[in-house]
Amino acid sequence: MVRDTISEPRDGRPPVLDVRVVDAMEKVERHLFVPEDVREWAYRDSPLGIGWRQTISQPYIVALMTELAEPDPEDRVLEIGTGSGYQAAVLAEIVDHVYTIEIVEPLGLRAAAALDAAGYGNVTTRIGDGYAGWQEEAPFDAIIVTAAPDHVPQPLIDQLATGGRLVLPVGPVAGRQELQVLEKQADGSVERTRVIPVRFVPLTRNR
Ligand code: SAH
Repeated sequence: MVRDTISEPRDGRPPVLDVRVVDAMEKVERHLFVPEDVREWAYRDSPLGIGWRQTISQPYIVALMTELAEPDPEDRVLEIGTGSGYQAAVLAEIVDHVYTIEIVEPLGLRAAAALDAAGYGNVTTRIGDGYAGWQEEAPFDAIIVTAAPDHVPQPLIDQLATGGRLVLPVGPVAGRQELQVLEKQADGSVERTRVIPVRFVPLTRNR
């Protein structure tokens, strides 16, 4: 008889085990989403610069946030902070449709072109301030925010479906940020789980 035990991560970080997430991470070609000057490091487990003082997240963090969103094939997911388009591509491998918003126009346009060239027909991109979410397409089964606000944006909670999950880093620009998951309950209340300390670029606002 074989009894399975899942080993404890040696570095204290939760392992990503969801088969759909691991498959998606294997499928998406990260080099297609990073600028040429950093392409030789595309398959390192580290963040990389993508211009305009922004970064493509570390693959481990992309995998972890995707897993925490608990994506299903029939889901519609919103991402705030398109950046390179990589996280959107990973989600698009798993779910029915991805909506993604980027505030820096040239980044959003480049990501849209990369997603298009890679054949991701189930991703819709938009330029704008993601703080307000995407009201016309709500509700969403999951929302992933890849830039850190200093508080949880209420519009994003409002745009979650019942049982939906909002995965986001929260905290001050230069200080301690925390990856959190907020799950909307049937009575409209929200249950929050704090996951690990993280470091993201700040969520900026149009003013
Ligand atoms: N998910 C991206 C990570 C990009 S880094 C990827 O896979 O590459 C975070 C991105 O959030 C940056 O491109 C930044 O410009 C964008 N961003 C910051 N504030 C934003 C806002 N209010 N609305 C939409 N995008 C925002």
